[in-house]
Amino acid sequence: VHVSGNIGSSQEIDKILLSNGDGVGLFRTEFLCMDKDSLPTEEEQFIIYKHAAEMLKDKPLIIRTLDAGGDKELRSLRQQKEENPAIGYRGIRICIDRVEVFKAQIRAILRASSFGNIKMMFPMISNLNQLRYCKKVVEDVKNELINESVEFNHNIEIGIMVEIPAVAINSKSFAKEVDFFSIGTNDLIQFTLAVDRCNENIAHLYNQYDPAVLKLIKFVIDNGHSEGIPVNMCGEIAGDKKLIPVLYGMGLDEFSINPGNIMETKYLISKLSKEYITERIDNLLKLDTSEEVENYIDTHIINNLF
Ligand code: PEP
Ligand code: MG
Repeated sequence: VHVSGNIGSSQEIDKILLSNGDGVGLFRTEFLCMDKDSLPTEEEQFIIYKHAAEMLKDKPLIIRTLDAGGDKELRSLRQQKEENPAIGYRGIRICIDRVEVFKAQIRAILRASSFGNIKMMFPMISNLNQLRYCKKVVEDVKNELINESVEFNHNIEIGIMVEIPAVAINSKSFAKEVDFFSIGTNDLIQFTLAVDRCNENIAHLYNQYDPAVLKLIKFVIDNGHSEGIPVNMCGEIAGDKKLIPVLYGMGLDEFSINPGNIMETKYLISKLSKEYITERIDNLLKLDTSEEVENYIDTHIINNLF
């Protein structure tokens, strides 16, 4: 099991390396242009990704393509105000619409891929046609680079964020067409429970222990594994101390978390007995309410761990 870090800039990689983290499970590239008036050019992105890959040496660097929109509004995209930004013009939807922006980023990622262990991942995919379109753009860009005699990793791994319930439900089909999954629980929970993750009035309804959320996560892990691909998680709950044992017992392959928490998460995982927890996952998933789930984790899993 790997424990890696989520970053928004290459400066945070030092922290991951100091904590003996296993790489970067999520590079949120939209943070490169959050307070800027323009998007970074291909060359600017190439320099940043190359530097990040070189710092990590052979440890993986999963670069997520631009995930603007929702709660991450970018001035440079001149986004209009929307009624429902969380389910609006955001993530891969923008990149499919603004293919020149997408292509520049993919060129930068591919060019940097010959300097380290880079993988790429698409956010907010909601159907297979989008994934196939994105993979076609990657193929087109690869051909451009070949014609220009630019070196890159021809076998770069491509994954998707599983953060929309439709993708989780249909994850068996998606698993046949990608190299890895990364479960984005921040969005997956908000969409599964229909709770805006930014609305304080309903924050109490945002609940990672909801049986529906945990069943969905287990379903995605099983579907990924049945198709032979690893399943990672880069949402906040990958760092939730009560859920780490549960996710480990469900077979999650990588926990990508806040770099500051890598050391203690690695320590916690090293103390866990997979067999003991795995035997209790079926009982956990039979429970009806989030209170029962939390109580079960406290009494049957956490209290008996050490
Ligand atoms: C997520 O949705 O879980 C995720 C990691 O992406 P973000 O928080 O950037 O939307
Ligand atoms: Mg997300």
